[in-house]
Amino acid sequence: MHISHRQHFFDHIAQTSDYPLALEIDRAEGVFMYGTDGKKYLDLISGIGVSNVGHRHPEVLAAIHQQLDKHMHLLVYGEFVQSTQVQLAKALVDTLSFEPEIASPFGKIDNVYFTNSGTEAVEGAMKLAKRFTGRAEFISCFNAYHGATQGALSLSGAEHFKRSFRPLLPEIKNITHGNPEDLLQITSKTAAVIIEIVGGESGVRVPSADYIKMLRKRCSEVGALLILDEVQTGFGRTGSFWAFEQYDIYPDILLSAKGMGGGMPIGAFMSSQRIMSVFKNNPILGHITTFGGHPVSSASALAALRVTLKEKLPEKAIAKGELFKSLLVHPKIKEVRGKGLMLAAEMESFDALKQTIDQCIEKGVITDWFLFCDNSMRLAPPLIITEEQIREGCAVILEVLG
Ligand code: PMP
Repeated sequence: MHISHRQHFFDHIAQTSDYPLALEIDRAEGVFMYGTDGKKYLDLISGIGVSNVGHRHPEVLAAIHQQLDKHMHLLVYGEFVQSTQVQLAKALVDTLSFEPEIASPFGKIDNVYFTNSGTEAVEGAMKLAKRFTGRAEFISCFNAYHGATQGALSLSGAEHFKRSFRPLLPEIKNITHGNPEDLLQITSKTAAVIIEIVGGESGVRVPSADYIKMLRKRCSEVGALLILDEVQTGFGRTGSFWAFEQYDIYPDILLSAKGMGGGMPIGAFMSSQRIMSVFKNNPILGHITTFGGHPVSSASALAALRVTLKEKLPEKAIAKGELFKSLLVHPKIKEVRGKGLMLAAEMESFDALKQTIDQCIEKGVITDWFLFCDNSMRLAPPLIITEEQIREGCAVILEVLG
């Protein structure tokens, strides 16, 4: 990558990437980003599943402006009611009224705790599961990513990512995503299993419906909570508002962030009131935040949620994902995996992938890789992408592959 001429950007910006792309973006609109040199880019990654309704959706912008005219931060430990939060919580709960084949033993989710990010949603959920079950053991999947702080990092299933930070939380076990035999590791000692229905940073791994149903049943049998991390899969990304709807099960705790904010930072952990009530004085309060569910982020999230439902973006993502799969047929692409618009195109090697990504960017199409899968190309465009734009993007990828 020819970034030496852009190296000065990092004189004072801490850089943790080995491969900084360092494109200087001036503005973004819909599915496009524009460089400071005026160059136009088709965005096929959405800031990693964030800009699901597109960059700067007009209804999201209007909601943000309206909220800015009223108030920004107040205080939400119970002192003041931020009405955008109340409306957003109701709208989220309304998306969760789905009747699954296999329910949660604790009933429907009707309580939302707002955070600033996905990582904080994970941290809150871990504390909630510990307090509710009185147990301390967590189970997560190999190659899963749930965040970068100490608790969330402890859940990571990539040893090289954790090694230099040990000791982390004890009593964490990793299982293989999709492997039914491993479910026996979930026992009456387990506080919770945390899983992404479709594995994200592991390179988009889609499990069978049977596996997810067995997982739900096993958790209920041994009294472990099932935490679904829908930080990346939620808000329509996989072809339904929540990915778990397609698996006909229901979680005990649900996590959201990324696409939820419509481009603003916000996250949430959600559960039934029965579970969440242990966070009240017990004997001391369970969890607090200053900025979680910021009014401007909440207004943005509520608008993004409404746009997602009104424009039927989840349903439409299914056919759009299939279009990607049908177009990306090439001897250098081993397979295109995924659900809806959460896709991975597997190449022969890391070098082949890197070269393809670089050349696509030269030609104005932005793709990316995954944290824990170094041979697959991330394809996760804004859900508003049109069929024509998908054809244009795929034509560039195929042209680069030769
Ligand atoms: N969970 C999953 C599944 C994620 O993909 C991510 C972010 N890549 C996180 C949690 C952490 O979210 P954040 O970066 O907002 O803290």
